[in-house]
Amino acid sequence: MTLADLDLLAAQSRRHAEIGRVPKYIPSFARANPNWFAVHVATPLQQHWSVGDRHLAFCLMSVVKPFVLLYLLEKLGSDQVFQAVGMQPSDLPFNSLMQLQTDHSFPRNPMLNSGAIALVSRFPGLNGSERCEYFRQWLNRQAGVTLHLDHDTLSSVKGLPNEQNRAIAQVLGEAHQLGSSVGDAIDTYERVCCLAGTVEDLAKLGLLLAQPRATVNPNHCCTVLAIMTTCGLYEASAQFAVEVGIPTKSGVSGALLSVVPREGAIACYSPPLDSIGNSAAGLHFLKQLARRFHLTLFG
Ligand code: GLN
Repeated sequence: MTLADLDLLAAQSRRHAEIGRVPKYIPSFARANPNWFAVHVATPLQQHWSVGDRHLAFCLMSVVKPFVLLYLLEKLGSDQVFQAVGMQPSDLPFNSLMQLQTDHSFPRNPMLNSGAIALVSRFPGLNGSERCEYFRQWLNRQAGVTLHLDHDTLSSVKGLPNEQNRAIAQVLGEAHQLGSSVGDAIDTYERVCCLAGTVEDLAKLGLLLAQPRATVNPNHCCTVLAIMTTCGLYEASAQFAVEVGIPTKSGVSGALLSVVPREGAIACYSPPLDSIGNSAAGLHFLKQLARRFHLTLFG
């Protein structure tokens, strides 16, 4: 792959941002420029390519969820984690209260808000701020990145409380599915979603899963990658697995991360989202790149 290849694919994909919309429910996101577009590709041999607005920092939002899962697998082990959350895909939106109710208050998978809220409530630490800070330091150490907490977005999120997420946390709390109080679980969740970095940081996080370091259990990375494949893009996960075939996770900020085991990680950032909540231009870029370099795990 050359920089010219990436430039060409990025130029074609940028245009697909037009079919998406920048979400408005987090006020600070409404200020995002729909034309922002950045990509970073990294390999375990430390080859790096980036194109576009690569200096922009953005919140990870739900792209943090695979790392929430990895962190807790490392801290508690698989048995305890999967007593707290399931591993079934869902055909309902990422913040569906109905899904949780249908499942008798047991969070269906860690890529949904319900699953992530249940997991972060079990993080070590005395309160939301300590839990998020320990997690941030762990990620920075493991992946060699410099994630920071985006205080501006965090105040924006807290200034317009997300009733759907609060209702989910309430149901989880009433069913004794949280490791902390409802308030602390929501606070921790909002904070970890507001961890921010550049596309290079995101690609380096992806490398943690692509080529696990000696400090991380490789079985835990396999579990995370499998769940990214089946659940990472919500309702679009199954179709993407067939058409593209690489574990991928999206976030409402427009962040998108794909991991090709042993080969590398691809991070994209483009704020306009499709109707499911996945970055429209980012998905287009991944599809083209995967086709061009035959990245599918199933081929
Ligand atoms: N913080 C966001 C929310 O709960 C994360 C969801 C996402 O990125 N899909 O709505």
